[in-house]
Amino acid sequence: MGSGALTAVRTIFRLAASMLVALFALLAPAVATALDDTVRIGVLAHSQESLNLWSPTADYLTQRIPGRRFLIVPLDNHTIGPAVAQGEVEFVLTNPGSYVELEARYGVTRMLTLRNLRQGQPYTVFGSVIFTRADHPSVKHLEDLRGRSFMAVDKNAFGGFLMAWREFKDHGIDPFRDFTEIKFIGLPQDPIVYAVRDGKVDAGMVRTDMLERMAADGKIRLDQFRILNPQHAEGFPFALSTRLYPEWPFSKARQTSDELAQQVAIALLSLPPGHPAAQASKSAGWTVPLDYTPVHELYRELHVGPYEDYGRMSTADILRQYWHWIAGMVVLVVALSAIAFYILRLNRILNLSQERLLGASHDLERANRRLERMSTQDDLTGIANHRYFQEHLDLEWRRERRARKPLALLMIDVDYFKALNDALGHLTGDECLRRIAHTLAGGLHRAGDVVARYGGEEFAAILPETDARNAAMLAERLRAAIENMGFAHPASKVGSNVTVSIGVASLVPMEQQKPEELIAMADRALYRAKKIGRNCVVADGTPD
Ligand code: GH3
Ligand code: MG
Ligand code: MG
Repeated sequence: MGSGALTAVRTIFRLAASMLVALFALLAPAVATALDDTVRIGVLAHSQESLNLWSPTADYLTQRIPGRRFLIVPLDNHTIGPAVAQGEVEFVLTNPGSYVELEARYGVTRMLTLRNLRQGQPYTVFGSVIFTRADHPSVKHLEDLRGRSFMAVDKNAFGGFLMAWREFKDHGIDPFRDFTEIKFIGLPQDPIVYAVRDGKVDAGMVRTDMLERMAADGKIRLDQFRILNPQHAEGFPFALSTRLYPEWPFSKARQTSDELAQQVAIALLSLPPGHPAAQASKSAGWTVPLDYTPVHELYRELHVGPYEDYGRMSTADILRQYWHWIAGMVVLVVALSAIAFYILRLNRILNLSQERLLGASHDLERANRRLERMSTQDDLTGIANHRYFQEHLDLEWRRERRARKPLALLMIDVDYFKALNDALGHLTGDECLRRIAHTLAGGLHRAGDVVARYGGEEFAAILPETDARNAAMLAERLRAAIENMGFAHPASKVGSNVTVSIGVASLVPMEQQKPEELIAMADRALYRAKKIGRNCVVADGTPD
C-alpha cells in the first residue's frame, strides 16, 4: 500500500470516529433519561416527618414495580406548587385543600384516597371541631363568638381554619371582622387545645379526633370542653363542628404516564392494612378516590386559593357576557340623547317664534289703540269726532232716561267763518278751529261733559244732568271765552275777533223720544241765534 492510500484510510477512520462521538453526544441525554428509573413522590410535610411516614410506602412501590425506584420528596406549602409546575415530581401526596389548588392550577389528578387510621379505625373523611371551655359563661353557640378571641392553625390551613371559616360564614359571621382577635399559631395543634382549656382564648379549632386522641393520652379531659355547632355524621364517632371532607388524596402530575399511574394505583390499592408501609403512615392503606367537589366548593365560597377571584368579574368578562345589553343601552342612550337634543331645538324654535308673536301682538295692540283713537278723535283739533259724539250722546241719553234727569246739548257754530277762510286763508282757518276746540274743551269741567267737533266749523257739547237754564249759563261762558280768545277776524260783521253762536237745548229723555230730537232742538236754537245777530246764546223754547 502506498503512503497516499494510507493517508486516505486514516482520514476516513478519523471522520468516522468524530461522527460517532457527535452521535453519542446527541443521544446521551435521551439515553440518560431512559435509564433514569427514579419516580419522585412529592409529600406535603416536614422533611423528617414525611420521610418517616412515607419512605416505607416508597420502598413498597419500588419492590412491587420492577425497574422503578420510588423516592419521597418533602415539600412545603411554598415549594409544592413550583415542584409540580416544573415536573419535578411524578406523584403528589398532600392534603385536600392543597390538592384542589394543584388540580385547579396544574391539572394534577387524584388516583386514590387515604384510609386514615383514627383510634384504630380507618376513615376516609375528616372535619374540624370548634370548641370553647365547658364552663365558659357566655359562649354556647357560634353566634356567641362575636366579640371573642379565637385560635387556629393558619389563615390558609384547610382543616386548621378554612373548614371553620365556611361554617362561620354560613352563620353570618365574618371572623376577621366580628372576632376581637384571631391567633394563628401554626402546627402542631395541641397548644390550641391547652389555650382554650386555660382560658387564654375564648374558643379554638383543631381537626377531628384530635381532642379524643389527647384525652386518650391523658393530656386533657373531654368534659373540659364544650363543642360548638355540634354535627352528627353516620359512622363518624368524633366530635365534629363542620362538614366532613375527603381525606388526603394520592394524585399524579399531568406529565406522568397513565401506564405508570396504573401500576402505582394497583400496587397501593392492594397494600394490606397491616403492611409495615401502612403502619408507618398510620393508615389502613388506600381506597378508590372520593369526590373532592366539597373541597372545591369551600374554596369557591370563601373566595380563597384557586378561587380567589371566583365570582368577581373583570371588565373583559362583563363586556363579553353582557355585550348585547351594553350595546342596547348605548343605542338607547344615543337615541334618547338625539330625541332630547331634537326636543330642545324644537323648544328653542318655539320660544323664538313665541317671542316674535308676542312682539307682533304688542305692535298690533299699539296699532289697535291708535286706530281706536283715530276712530273717536278728530284729526285736526284732537277733540272727540262726530262718531264719538254720536255714541256718547246715545249713552247719556239712555242713562238720563233711566235716571229721569235732564240732558243738555249745545250746538256751536263759528260766525262768518267762510269769510275768515277767504280773508286769512285755510291754514289760519284750521288754526282758528284748533284754538276754538281747545278753548271749548277747557271750559267744560264736569266728568260727563264732552265737547266734539260736529263737522266743519260746528262744535257740539253734551252736558249730562244739566237743565236748560244751567246749560245756557255755561253756553254764555263759552261764547265769552271764544270772543276773549282774541283771534282776529277782520272780515267779521259782529266784531274784530272770532265769535261763535250757540244753540242750547235740554230735556229729560222720554221713552218714545230719540236723541235726534234734542239735536234738532239745539239746531233750531242755533239757527235763531244766527238770525238775531250772531255772537250770542239762544236756548230752545226762548221766544224770538
Ligand atoms: P255763518 O256765520 O252763517 O255761520 O257764516 P259761515 O261763513 O260760518 O257759514 P257757512 O256754514 O256757510 O260756512 C262754513 C265754512 O266753514 C265753509 C267752509 O269753507 C269752512 N270750513 C268748514 N270746515 C273747515 C275746516 O276744516 N277748515 C277750514 N279752514 N274751514 C272750514
Ligand atoms: Mg256752519
Ligand atoms: Mg258758521
